[in-house]
Amino acid sequence: MTSATLNIDLTAVVRNWQALNALTDCETGAVVKASGYGLGAGVVARALARAGARHFFVATAHEGAELRTSIGHGQDIYVFSGHMDGDTTAIEEAGLIPLLNSVDQMLRQVEALPGAPFGIQLDTGMNRLGMEPAEWSAVRDIAIAQKPVLLMSHLACSDTPDHPMNAQQLAQFRTMTDGVDIPRSLAATGGTLLGPAYHFDLTRPGVGLYGGLPFDGAEAVVTLDMPVIQIRDVAVGETVGYSNTWTAKRPSRIATVSGGYADGLIRAIGNGAILYNGDVACPIVGRVSMDLITADVTDAHGIPEVLQLIGPHQGVDALADFADTIGYEILTAFGGRYHRTYTE
Ligand SMILES: *Cc1c(COP(=O)(O)O)cnc(C)c1O
Repeated sequence: MTSATLNIDLTAVVRNWQALNALTDCETGAVVKASGYGLGAGVVARALARAGARHFFVATAHEGAELRTSIGHGQDIYVFSGHMDGDTTAIEEAGLIPLLNSVDQMLRQVEALPGAPFGIQLDTGMNRLGMEPAEWSAVRDIAIAQKPVLLMSHLACSDTPDHPMNAQQLAQFRTMTDGVDIPRSLAATGGTLLGPAYHFDLTRPGVGLYGGLPFDGAEAVVTLDMPVIQIRDVAVGETVGYSNTWTAKRPSRIATVSGGYADGLIRAIGNGAILYNGDVACPIVGRVSMDLITADVTDAHGIPEVLQLIGPHQGVDALADFADTIGYEILTAFGGRYHRTYTE
């Protein structure tokens, strides 16, 4: 079975990075965790490094080690999960910068890798990762004496600009870090859009680079073209797919395309998503199955060979809306089965 083609426009990724960079007077990093939001961390990071990005962020030391192999030693790679038990070799050999989340992690770091660079993640209210205010007060002077390279925190509600949590976390971050002469970072994509008060020394956009909300000025990055495996004509009253959820109300032509929920096209997108034959909308009919999707191509021009699920007519966030989820989840769910092509 021929797999669907996921095209990633690296020039659009670079332009999105440049556009976010142009919004600030500080450094702009790039978050490439989860295989670069499903698009390929190594290729994305190499393109951004050529464009001038010097700071990359991943979730785990394992991701960091892989990224180091792809990009070489010119750029910083920070690890959000910090220094976990078992990470020391990867951190040391790949020259990663763990963002330490607790006193336990700090002890592990200074015992295992004395003198090696690290940053500190502070919890300013999200209650997910980072040292709590009380914990930080207790170790702050000792920690700062070890010269961390970055102090960072993460916003819980930055996709909602007028949410009071934003100002509250900003104030907490300032209380915890003002007066300390160490670079600071608070903003991901959403925070970058909140304005200069949130920028500090380094921003960490992820989803905006890949064309996703909340960066509504982003250029689209992804197109997904799905090859048609088979076409059939069905009569009024015939059903399509598992559980007979769709019944033909007119004589209809049905195309079966290669790709399904095992490729991250979760079943819930069937609740409204459309495959496009050029400009002609061919609605998904019947259930999305593991490897296949069926669409009504009665109105298509001729016999389509390929139908487009993600592209100018329907972006990643539009697809996410049908499934009542967010673009991030659609992107990171793309599996390993696609033929990935890159436009440079
Ligand atoms: C994922 C993540 C980011 C990037 O967030 P986006 O919303 O994708 O820009 C930045 N910082 C931290 C701590 C993260 O976990």
